[in-house]
This record gives sequence, structure tokens and C-alpha cells, in this order.
Amino acid sequence: MAFTLPALPYDFSALEPVIDTQTMQIHHGKHHQAYVTNLNNAIAGKAELESKSAEDLIRNLAAVPDGVRGAVRNNGGGHVNHSMFWQIMAPKGTGGGEPTGPLADAIKTAFGSLGDFKARLQDAGVKRFGSGWAWLIVKDGQLAVTSTANQDNPMMAESILAPTGATSGRPILGVDVWEHAYYLKYQNRRPDYLAAWWDVVNWAKVGELFAAGH
Ligand code: MN
Repeated sequence: MAFTLPALPYDFSALEPVIDTQTMQIHHGKHHQAYVTNLNNAIAGKAELESKSAEDLIRNLAAVPDGVRGAVRNNGGGHVNHSMFWQIMAPKGTGGGEPTGPLADAIKTAFGSLGDFKARLQDAGVKRFGSGWAWLIVKDGQLAVTSTANQDNPMMAESILAPTGATSGRPILGVDVWEHAYYLKYQNRRPDYLAAWWDVVNWAKVGELFAAGH
């Protein structure tokens, strides 16, 4: 079964004014589509790879043949990363606000306060040189912040991530800091994009992802 581009769970304009309509159209329809197409091309005809989920492919890159490992890392990662990204955002009203329940408690335990967590995530995103992502992960039962390069994902093995300064864990929130995610509206102002992004975070969905691992 070839991988397919998942539909956005809201309109392209739904995240305005935090993320503009044109950025959403290009980001979803061109960038995410390209990761899907390139992932399909990389594994075409390789039955042992075609039978796996994208998550399984990137969790165990050692099982992917040398010749396509890089393509699966980049494009499988791109597909998994963006599939989560669309889900953990929502229009203002549903998005934004504060987490509740066990997730809110875990954030306080790990970081001291929601504000301290936000500062940590924004700092990770700002300091990721070039392109990548900043993440909230569950690692050894605790919440932690990390950032990955390019389209790497924290579910990749520690041996893959460590040389890039990232750490592995189970991702429950990720923010895209590639220029394609913000440049049309924010140009060079990545910190402004990251600060505004909290207004469209779907905390209910992040809470579900947190709970799913328990
Ligand atoms: Mn992206």
C-alpha cells in the first residue's frame, strides 16, 4: 500500500493569523506531498518495506537497506512529522489556551510551569541551526524537550540522533522550524513564529498522545 497525503483536519485558512493560508497550502500540498511521493518512490518494489508503517520504517532505520536508508530517513521522517504537526494544531478557540489534566501535571513536574516549558521549547526551536523541529517527548516516563535536524524524528534510534544533538523519545508535540513553515509571514523572525504558534496548539490532542503511551 502506497502512503498517501492525509487531509488537513481544518481549512487552509483556519490557522490565520498565526499561520497564513498560502503557507498552509504550500506546506501541506507541496512539501508534505513531496515527502509522501519520495517515500513511496524510495520503497517501491521492496515488499519488506512496503508492508511497514511509516513509523515502523523510521523507528528501525537499521532494517532499511543502505541504498534507500537516507531517503527513508528524510522522507519517512517528513511524512511522520507533518502528519503529527497538522493534528496537534487547531483553529484559535479550539487551539491555544492551556493543557489540562495529567499532561498539565506532567509539564509542571518536568519544567516547573507551563511558561517555563514554552520558553524551553522556543529556545530549542530558535537554536536549531538550519532546518529541523523542536519537540516535547516522553523519555523514561518523564517529559523532556529536544530538537532534531532536518526531518529526523525523536522515535528514531538514539544512535541516529545523538550525532545531531538530538535525543530519542516518544514525541507528543512537535513544531516545524524549517523556513518553509513560516517564511512568507515571518521572514527571518523565527522567534516571533514560535511565540505566536502557541495560539494554535491543540492541547486536547497533545493530551491524547500523552495518555496513549501510558
Ligand atoms: Mn514542514
